[in-house]
Order: sequence, then structure tokens, then C-alpha cells
Amino acid sequence: MTVLVLGGAGYIGSHAVDQLIDKGYEGAVVDNLQTGHREAVHEKARFYQGDIRDKDFLRSVFEKERVTAVLHFAANSLVGESMETPLPYLNNNIHGTQIALEVMEEFGVKNIVFSSSAATYGEPKRVPITEEMPTKPESTYGDTKLIMEKMMKWCDIAYGIKYVSLRYFNVAGAKMDGSIGEDHEPETHLVPIILQVALGQREELSIFGNDYNTKDGTCVRDYIHVVDLIDAHILALEYLQNGGDSNIFNLGSSSGFSVMQMVRAARQVTGREIKTKVVERRAGDPSTLIASSDKARNILGWNPKYTDVSEIIATAWKWHQGYPNGYND
Ligand code: UDP
Repeated sequence: MTVLVLGGAGYIGSHAVDQLIDKGYEGAVVDNLQTGHREAVHEKARFYQGDIRDKDFLRSVFEKERVTAVLHFAANSLVGESMETPLPYLNNNIHGTQIALEVMEEFGVKNIVFSSSAATYGEPKRVPITEEMPTKPESTYGDTKLIMEKMMKWCDIAYGIKYVSLRYFNVAGAKMDGSIGEDHEPETHLVPIILQVALGQREELSIFGNDYNTKDGTCVRDYIHVVDLIDAHILALEYLQNGGDSNIFNLGSSSGFSVMQMVRAARQVTGREIKTKVVERRAGDPSTLIASSDKARNILGWNPKYTDVSEIIATAWKWHQGYPNGYND
């Protein structure tokens, strides 16, 4: 009885595997290591290196494992990059999900928890964003996530594959003991970049625009701790295994922090000067994204614990100090 984690060597997937094993689940991981790290995978999880678009490979994994449910994190995930090179996003995210669903259908696997994104909403008319608000992605990345959700919807109707789609807001932080964390090459995410400046690995943080219609002109995001995020995945898995119907939930902390507020919080946590300069806006960035997570709290019983951004930054800081060069250390 295995939970198969697609993309389980990535930042978020590796935390999922860690928490699944910790809770007593049997875990197996599929990852092509395009952006993931073998070292990030819990030693008790069986690891299969390969691409979810390779159907024979994926079938061979389902033949070896008695898969009861799939957690699907395997995707290209950068808003900015998806605007410059949309085709690999369409290929990996949409085609990859199609193959995963085809193999699930072949093997009679009926439950999938899916890593979706706030980018499915685009620029919201108002915040906090609730799940029934219109979806109008402003990036290729966001649109691929919405298409992937729709693919699962049709597979539910036709094959009874039940899904929970979790629309993440901004995920940050690391496991409390600092043993796994965020390591992208190149790094593009705000919190790790700020901390690389704090470590002296970068000169300064480029702030992408300070003329947005927000309190200080910089973009506002809702930051959620990766450990809380994975708690919601495990609750979603249990919800499906208890017969829950397909559903979509936002995952955020319900409060917004601007880029400048994040910099100030990081200065306090690290005690380091963090230089900034303002540059052009980044294509595809909405000005403000804040979640309403009431639905996840009410239906899944989710209760995020690390809602203070300083705490989120502090756990990421522990990881970055312990592994300044990521998994290459
Ligand atoms: N951001 C920034 N400079 C950077 C990286 C990010 O100003 O070097 C801003 C970005 O415009 C966005 C926020 O920080 O408003 C979070 O960006 P990130 O790439 O971490 O996550 P995203 O919102 O794209 O999922």
C-alpha cells in the first residue's frame, strides 16, 4: 500500500515524502532530477529516477509498487520562465499529467492529490481569494495548472479518479531541523534569494517593481510554511481515502506581506544588512495574492501552525546556514 510521490525529490515533494514516512506511510518517489535532488529523498522511500512522460517507465513503477494514491508535484513551476519558454511548460506539465492519469487509470488507482497554484486565479478582483472566484491565469505556468485541474475533472467523471487540487500561495521555509530545504539552480524565489544576500552569496535583492497598487508599491503575497502545506496534503489524502469527493482548496495563511516587508522581517531574523535595488516588473506577476483558506480549515480540518513570516524565514535561514550551497555541500 504505497503512496507514490511524483516529483518527490523537489523542494515541496521532498517535504511531503518526509512527513508521509514520519506518519507511517509507505512512500515511493518518481523524479527525473531535472530540478530535484536525490539527497533530499527520505532514506526509507523507494526511489525511481525517470520522467513521468515516459509511460513505460511509469508503468514499470506501478508494476513494482502497490500504489494506493498519487501525490503529484512533478512540474515546471516558475511564472517568469514560463512566459519566456512556454513550450517546455506545456509539455512537462500537461503531457506529463496526461501520462500519469493514463497509467493511474490502467492500474485502477483512484486517488490523486495535486499540486496546483494561486497562479490559476491571475490578478484577482478582490482579496482574500476564495475557491469559487473566477480563474483567469496570467502566465503559461498558471494556465498549465488550471488545465491539469480540468484534466483531472474529466478523469473523475469518466473513470472515477478522485482528486484534491491544492492551490498553493507562496510556499517558503524548511523542515524544522534544517535537514531539507529549498535548493533551486538558478534560484528565483524571494525568500531564498533574500537569504542568499544575507549570506553574502549575492550582492543585493532585485525588487521587481515598486509601482504596484499596494501599500508600499511592491507585490504582496501570502507566505505559507512548507510543513503546514504538507500537513494539508496528508489531510487531503485521508479525505480521499475516506471516500471524499473531488475538491479544490486554497492553501495560504490568509495574510499578505509585501516584498519590502519580507526584506525587513529577514533583516530582523538574520541580523544582516540585506541590500535591495528596484528593477522592472517581472512579466506575469499579479500585484496582490492573498488566500482565503477557510474551506481547507472547515472541510479538511487544516490548522496551519507557522503563520508568522519571521518563523517561516527563521526555518529557511537555518537550512541556508547549514547548507549554504544547497545539496552540493
Ligand atoms: N520577487 C522579487 N525579486 C526576486 C524574486 C521575487 O521582487 O528576486 C518578488 C516577485 O515579484 C513576487 C514575490 O517576490 O512578487 C514572490 O516571488 P516568487 O518568485 O518567490 O514566487 P511567485 O509569487 O512567483 O510564486
